[in-house]
Amino acid sequence: MDAAQTTVTPVVWIPETVQEAFALYQEFLPDAEWIAGGTWRQVEREKGKAFAGNVIVLERIFGLASLQEEEKYVRVGACMTLEQLIQEAVISREILGEAMRRIAAPAVRTRGTIGGNIMYGHGDTLPALIALQAELEIWNGESYDRIPVEEAASYDGVFLLTAVLLPKTLEAGPEEVHFFEKIGRREAFTASLLAVSGCFCRQGDGSVRARLALVGGKDAPLRLRQAEACVAEPGWTPEAFFEAFAADYQPEDEPFSSGNYRLQAAAHLFLSHLWLDDKAEKGGVHKA
Ligand SMILES: Cc1cc2nc3c(=O)[nH]c(=O)nc-3n(C[C@H](O)[C@H](O)[C@H](O)COP(=O)(O)OP(=O)(O)OC[C@H]3O[C@@H](n4cnc5c(N)ncnc54)[C@H](O)[C@@H]3O)c2cc1C
Repeated sequence: MDAAQTTVTPVVWIPETVQEAFALYQEFLPDAEWIAGGTWRQVEREKGKAFAGNVIVLERIFGLASLQEEEKYVRVGACMTLEQLIQEAVISREILGEAMRRIAAPAVRTRGTIGGNIMYGHGDTLPALIALQAELEIWNGESYDRIPVEEAASYDGVFLLTAVLLPKTLEAGPEEVHFFEKIGRREAFTASLLAVSGCFCRQGDGSVRARLALVGGKDAPLRLRQAEACVAEPGWTPEAFFEAFAADYQPEDEPFSSGNYRLQAAAHLFLSHLWLDDKAEKGGVHKA
């Protein structure tokens, strides 16, 4: 008999405010957990990680399931489902929409939320959000705070994610390139081995101003600061990029992909945008 079968039925709490949800969590710790769409937790439960004794459902909390356009950003409530967001033009035409369209199948996207995708730690939206310079609005038990997406995993303390704040300059301007790429073990309906994303702008001197990020296998989402610094230099080369990239990213072997495979594949995906696209236009490397 596995762990899921031996557990007692959890008590389900349905709070209506962020503060109530946080207080319940603290009251019942360590036997408590938050749940949004439940799609990821169901996968984990089937693998043997039973639900906590107190399940705190987030979907009825006011303000967590709507989208608002503020002056400088679009505020996306953490409990908006992936499918709802795909239907929003402002999201759909950007790389965030591309990332969401490639997550699982409609049944999962109809229940699964953006908050759950971020908080399970390896979601495909993470690199796109980092590249787009999104921030997270969180409630830490005392106040609301704003943190960059890439700092969520190392945040000192517990927090409830309330919204994602997307800068209004979301869409790629004429000089900017935004990209999202995902590698899985088959074409569709597959968890990613690797998802990479970037937003960049070429400068006249050959340097590139870029924000680059990835998430792969069990790796935590990563902003590639050394790779970004490398391409910011005029005269950078693919070899120099690879060296900087390898300093940012040291993936370990996993059952379905070696660390070296993910390292090589990710470097090539980035270079196909940062280097090849440019050289191809000029009749460069593709001609050889
Ligand atoms: C068949 C299948 C295929 C999938 N394929 C993909 C894929 O291709 N790419 C991908 O990225 N993902 C994939 N997923 C993973 C995942 O289910 C979805 O990404 C989904 O977005 C998770 O959202 P949820 O609301 O269901 O999360 P839940 O299962 O409700 O929660 C996930 C975790 O996040 C925490 N959490 C949720 N909301 C909050 C919040 N507001 N504040 C704090 N913590 C919170 C929960 O406590 C839990 O630990 C797949 C899942 C399934 C079942």
